[in-house]
Amino acid sequence: MDYQFKAGSIPLLVSMPHVGTEIPDDVLAAMTPAAVDKQDTDWHLVRLYDFLGEMGASVLSARWSRYVIDLNRPPENTNLYPGQDTTGLCPVDTFHREPLYRDGQAPDQAEVQRRLAAYWQPYHQQLRAELDRLLALHGRVALWDAHSIASVVPRFFEGKLPDLNFGTADGHSCAAGMSDAVVAHARAQQQFSIAVNGRFKGGHITRFYGQPEKGVHAIQLEMCQSTYMDEDAPYGYRADRAAQVQPLLRDMLHTAASWVRA
Ligand SMILES: [Zn+2]
Repeated sequence: MDYQFKAGSIPLLVSMPHVGTEIPDDVLAAMTPAAVDKQDTDWHLVRLYDFLGEMGASVLSARWSRYVIDLNRPPENTNLYPGQDTTGLCPVDTFHREPLYRDGQAPDQAEVQRRLAAYWQPYHQQLRAELDRLLALHGRVALWDAHSIASVVPRFFEGKLPDLNFGTADGHSCAAGMSDAVVAHARAQQQFSIAVNGRFKGGHITRFYGQPEKGVHAIQLEMCQSTYMDEDAPYGYRADRAAQVQPLLRDMLHTAASWVRA
């Protein structure tokens, strides 16, 4: 399989497009040692969100590294943040601008098309199918696109990122009632700093599938990795830190699911 998927019973689908750490041998053969490190992975999110099964949520997570193809970029590779630097559909460098490919080995158009069909489409077909299944059962569905990133990445933003960055495509990907109810949990605590539609407004998954008028209410949460792990190699999970943020995550996801059910 090109992803991990578990169907749940409540109208909540959690997508984790950047947790993949595998690179097919033929792709890896063209890559530099910088790729092997996979430093730009959204590490450990499956573990951090380990309460989802108990909640009855559906969970879809990537198998392949974002270096193979980025599941949270549009297939036509338009820039999600016009005027700002961002990595593309098949990134050619890391967040720290280290080249991912040996000289002359970067993927050409034909190779990008091949990866779209082989690695991008299967994830999106499963995502669409599960949204449709949940819509048929429940009438409305909450889609939560889960991400994490190093808290300091000068290429993309100045200084340190807020701990929790909510994105709803500036209010277009979900009803205000749902995002307000979810974010209220984050506003009610002091431990973690937050931003709503700041530097991160939601990527392709949030923007494309989030169609409140059709019953799909999508929110992206981009978390600082410092909230639950070591940001330096070997990127260890920190259960002590995770335990601080997990109750908040659980509350927010319960609220999202309850909101679409109401
Ligand atoms: Zn991500």
